[in-house]
Amino acid sequence: MMAKLHASTDHNSNLNHRQQDNDFRSMIENSLDLIIKVNLSGHYTYVNPAFCALYGTNAEDLLGRHYSDDVHEDDRAMVDEFFSKLLAPPHTVSFIHRENTVLGVRRLEWTGKGIMNAQGELVEFVGIARDVTDRLDLIDKLAEQAYHDELTGLANRRFLTQQAHLELERAQRYQRPLSLFILDIDHFKIVNDHYGHPSGDIVLKQLSLLMKDALREHDLIVRIGGEEFAVLLPEADLAGAIVIAERLREAVAHHAFEILHGLRISLTISIGVASTSDIAHDFEKLMQEPDVRLYRAKSLGRNQVVPAQT
Ligand code: GH3
Ligand code: MG
Ligand code: MG
Repeated sequence: MMAKLHASTDHNSNLNHRQQDNDFRSMIENSLDLIIKVNLSGHYTYVNPAFCALYGTNAEDLLGRHYSDDVHEDDRAMVDEFFSKLLAPPHTVSFIHRENTVLGVRRLEWTGKGIMNAQGELVEFVGIARDVTDRLDLIDKLAEQAYHDELTGLANRRFLTQQAHLELERAQRYQRPLSLFILDIDHFKIVNDHYGHPSGDIVLKQLSLLMKDALREHDLIVRIGGEEFAVLLPEADLAGAIVIAERLREAVAHHAFEILHGLRISLTISIGVASTSDIAHDFEKLMQEPDVRLYRAKSLGRNQVVPAQT
């Protein structure tokens, strides 16, 4: 009787274990996360269906292949480095990389961990990943929107503030000059009033293109708001910045802005310039002084560059 009872308990416990194994297998196979195992040389020993779906194939096809086979070329060295990290204690890594898949290049966020046997020896690795492409694309898009002006595609005031801090720090460290000028279209309200807001928008876009043409590649061109723009000029002292500002002022004055219905109009701009060579390496002054000088340019009759406190 005793023996029989024992046998039946064993039988039940086996059944329970098998049921549990099936449950775990089902969880992994139905997971939307990518779950894999690789051996110590980096070859797949298990891949779940979600992972197979990325390659439009089945497990048989993927098993034995190497993890690096479909890693985006530019990320291969980085992923190899993470794999070698896994080989050393504490045998855990987390990273994001780009993978070539049937859905195109996808960004996968991995956590990887070493698995030990009963003797405490490292035998293989388990990796779990999620496709974070859409989330990261959204973050990139929001970052792009946070730092760019929608109408002209130029950087915005927030980006200028950030860059001005960095450039000023750099200029101070290496004792290099840095200049900033702010320009504002003269009587822009008239363009809107006469030709309509859409024509005003066209002018703003054309002016931004003209500025890109007239300025050096490493000058940062910013739309700080409305019809006001700023240009941050690394390596330019006051004299250099005046030359550049004058050149731009003239280019605008000679340009025929083509607005709606093929109409061409001329415009002028006023510019206030300041440089570390005349106001020292002071962030607040660098940001405020060009504005003060711009309004001076307006009161002096517009269509001019004002580079000094007067
Ligand atoms: P001033 O020479 O003194 O600068 O005169 P102004 O007419 O240019 O200056 P004011 O500040 O009076 O007018 C600026 C105008 O810019 C008013 C506003 O409607 C227009 N504006 C601001 N942002 C935009 C925009 O995104 N698109 C268009 N079309 N107009 C804009
Ligand atoms: Mg204006
Ligand atoms: Mg203005």
